Amino acid sequence: MTKKTYIQNFRVDSPPVGATVRYECLSCGSVLKSQPTHAVACDCYNIIVDVDAGRFSVKDPLSLRVFVEE
Ligand SMILES: [Zn+2]
Repeated sequence: MTKKTYIQNFRVDSPPVGATVRYECLSCGSVLKSQPTHAVACDCYNIIVDVDAGRFSVKDPLSLRVFVEE
């Protein structure tokens, strides 16, 4: 069983990245990997992760939660 440990006090413009780090959008409920193999976005396009371009963007930071999956 996986356990979610939510990270507090991260920088919204530069959240933590790692193999077990996930981004959760509270608006649409999507969960994105922080190190996807291709650019990904949540269903409502609030969160966009484009590793190749080294970009992370979030429109509504209040809808972003970051957790570590263990
Ligand atoms: Zn979303």
